[in-house]
Amino acid sequence: MASNGDGPWTRRGRRGREQYVVLAAAAAQVGSLIEIQPTKEMSRAMAPAKTSQTWPNITNASEIESWLIDMDGVLVREEHPIEGANRFLDLLRRTETPFLVLTNNSMFTGRDLSARLKWNGIDVPEDHIWTSALATAVFLDSQRPKGTAFVIGEVGLTTALHEVGYTLSDNNPDYVVIGETRSYSFERITKAVRLVGEGKRFIATNPDPTGPSVHGPLPATGAVAALISKATGKVPYFVGKPNPLMIRSALRRLNAHSETTAMVGDRMDTDVVAGLEAGLHTVLVLSGVSDAGAADHYPYKPSRVVTSVEVLADELEKSLS
Ligand SMILES: [Mg+2]
Repeated sequence: MASNGDGPWTRRGRRGREQYVVLAAAAAQVGSLIEIQPTKEMSRAMAPAKTSQTWPNITNASEIESWLIDMDGVLVREEHPIEGANRFLDLLRRTETPFLVLTNNSMFTGRDLSARLKWNGIDVPEDHIWTSALATAVFLDSQRPKGTAFVIGEVGLTTALHEVGYTLSDNNPDYVVIGETRSYSFERITKAVRLVGEGKRFIATNPDPTGPSVHGPLPATGAVAALISKATGKVPYFVGKPNPLMIRSALRRLNAHSETTAMVGDRMDTDVVAGLEAGLHTVLVLSGVSDAGAADHYPYKPSRVVTSVEVLADELEKSLS
């Protein structure tokens, strides 16, 4: 849908623009006979249309006004920085381009993740990090402000919920919320199974069955949610990628617009599809999970495929020189 440049949002803009083009053309004709001052709208209409020229076929990173950047496989891989990642982030900072680093991992707070990235040689301040835990908290706050939740998860999730005014409770909670943790307790899972079985609203921060580690894959939120689903016959609502809700909440956080924002990710089945469904430009990097061959088999495609963020950094650098 994002590939033909004719989505409903552009159409509406174009229709409004056409009216001013007609007015401006008429004014130009009359203007040769009488002195006429074009209005701001007329001048804008006669100028090249920026949106239709630059969207959706971006050819250069400098055409993008804001960025959502996946973390694993884009900036870091197995606790090492990916070539060009720091240079790309530095250029975004230097040009005061708004950006957020996204992760489906709900275990850590933004501060923890900022510190972990720093150990891995990547400099991202905590307020530039957007996790599925933060997206879940924003979502629950919008649905049932100041509610209660029974939570299986770590500080990344419990802090996010506290910060939006949620209370953690085992007793008749509004929601059962499952997030990432490394210390699952049989008692807590039993409690969650009983609450969901009784009909409590079931939420999970992200659907990932496994997460990456230097020692190999780890069971992640999706795997534990599946355990509760198997026991109850109920499936949770997943907030993290590929749900475009996570992308939209990140856009709101940046005060950015989808048409001028790019989502950069290494996975077709999460980053690219979520970015596409939220109406963003999508850039697939080949430095992580999806390779170019596999990407070609999906029924949707990214706006661009690049080897790594280094290509984007080169383009931004060139546009500054
Ligand atoms: Mg990734």
